Order: sequence, then structure tokens, then C-alpha cells
Amino acid sequence: MSARLLDGRDVASHLRRDLKHRVERLTEGDAATTPQLAILRSGADNSAALYAASLERAARSVGVEPLLIADETDPLLATISRLNADPTVAGIVIAQPSSDPEHGRRLVERIDPAKDVDGATPTNAGWLARGQPAFVPATALAVIAILEAYDIPVAGRRAVIIGRSAVVGRPVASLLVARDATVVICHRATRNLARETRRAEILVAAAGVPGLVRAEMVNRSSVVIDCGINAVTGGIVGDVEFSAVALIVKAISPVPGGIGPVTPMMVLRQTVESAERRAGRSP
Ligand code: NAD
Repeated sequence: MSARLLDGRDVASHLRRDLKHRVERLTEGDAATTPQLAILRSGADNSAALYAASLERAARSVGVEPLLIADETDPLLATISRLNADPTVAGIVIAQPSSDPEHGRRLVERIDPAKDVDGATPTNAGWLARGQPAFVPATALAVIAILEAYDIPVAGRRAVIIGRSAVVGRPVASLLVARDATVVICHRATRNLARETRRAEILVAAAGVPGLVRAEMVNRSSVVIDCGINAVTGGIVGDVEFSAVALIVKAISPVPGGIGPVTPMMVLRQTVESAERRAGRSP
């Protein structure tokens, strides 16, 4: 491997240390002021359970109290209203979208945008699309956190994103444009994906297709960030053929150990920001 490894575990551990100090400063030993993060699940999907568990661990590791709430249908709407009104709750995350899209939409819309620490509400998506981000989807922030941690320049660079979902592709595009990158968004209907990706100085893969990005689709000056989490026989892989691509590009984030560990820290960073704002503190 000739590429520099963009180590998400290392980035996450620096973030964890900083957030832990910020929470300590907020609470100053008074447990009653410990900020809470509500983690909601509707349904029994396994990957959502894993995400909820990783958020719970991340919250505890920085001194935020996780509130795990699992429910099936409408009581969750009433629960969100109660959490919105509770001053000790700094953040609300839906770890798994409802299996009924209409119900899922109502749940997300019910979250107070000021507690929407995974940037899921239309209000926060709108602010981001306007170039005035408030709370932003955590995975997109994790991409930026890794680029920043390794001092990878973004302004003026050509960034190519594979995927246009509301949780990853689109918000990553907005954040990179806000940092003066020239952004190309690719998706299922892109005619010649390799032609686009070969020109990338920063390539973000967020398609959910194992092995989609192969060695012939990158160049020697690319920085590759792999957001894919794909369960295959033998474990989890990303969207990039890691071992072949790492021989060519300048830098690459692995799966596991890249974006994955940083994402929960971004939810926590936004939770701590919300708690600081509520307490009238600046970071
Ligand atoms: P999605 O299915 O909502 O969107 C996938 C996008 O990729 C779509 O826009 C689609 O057009 C595009 N796409 C699919 N196949 C393609 C192809 N062959 N060529 C070009 N474009 C293609 O998925 P999502 O929710 O955005 O998630 C994407 C990946 O990121 C998944 O593997 C998911 O598990 C992972 N993910 C990771 C995190 C994290 O914290 N690391 C968080 C959310 C999602």
C-alpha cells in the first residue's frame, strides 16, 4: 500500500477527548446538568440496533447520557414532543427510519430543529442547501472532519461524490461547495462513472455497492473517502476495492475504521453544541 491511511479511529479519539472536556466544563461536577441524547428506534432492524448501540457507547464515552427509546408507531410522536420540551435533552436522533415512509416523515418533522443533532429535519436540510448550515447529517460532517484532521486542501479542488442521498451524498456536496470545492455528484444514472471518478482530486464513495470503485477508476493524486458500509460474507466492506485502490491513490480511508468511528462523534459534537447553546456557553 502506498497511500496514506486516513485513520478514522485516531480522528475519533481526538474528537472524543475534546468533547469530554467540553462536557466536563458544562456540567462542572453537577450530574443534574448532564446533557442527554435521545436515540429513537422504530422497528427491529439489526443494522439500526448496531448504530444505536454505537451512538450509546459514544455518548457515554464523552459524558453525555444516552436515552434509548424503542417504539413501533404513534407513541413515538408523543415521545418526540415530550423530548422537545425537556430542557435536559440536548439532542434527538432517529437511529432507524420507520418502515412506513409517511410515518417516518412525520417523526422527523416533529423533531425540534434546535435538537436535531443528526441534521434530519427539512429545516436543517434547507439551511444546509442555502449554504448556511446549522445541524448537518453526521456522516457528511465525518467526511469533512477526516479531511480537516489530515490537512487535505479542499478549496479549488475537484471533488467527485458517488451517491445523492439526503443523508450522505447531498449534504457532503453542500459542505464541500461551502468550502470552495468544485463538486460533481454521480448516481445510478451517471453514464460513465469511471470517466468522472478518474478526474477526482477528492473522491467520496457513498453508494452502498461493495467494490464499486476499482483501481482503474482513480488517479495518483486522489484522496478517497469511503462511506460505504456493506455486510458481506466475512464482515463489513466499503464501496472501494481497498487493497487495489490503495496501491494507486495518495490517501484513503478504510472500512472498517474510517468514516464509521467518526460519525457518532459528529452526532455528539452537535449534541454538545446544542447543550452549550442552551447553557448560554460558547465552545
Ligand atoms: P442510498 O441507497 O440512499 O443512496 C445510494 C446512492 O448511490 C444513490 O444516490 C444512488 O443513485 C447511488 N448509486 C447506487 N449504485 C450506484 C452505482 N452503481 N453507480 C453510481 N451511483 C450509484 O444510500 P445511503 O443511505 O446514502 O448510504 C450509502 C452508503 O453509505 C451505504 O453503504 C450506507 O450503509 C453507508 N452509510 C454510512 C454511514 C456511516 O456512518 N458511515 C451513514 C449512512 C450511510
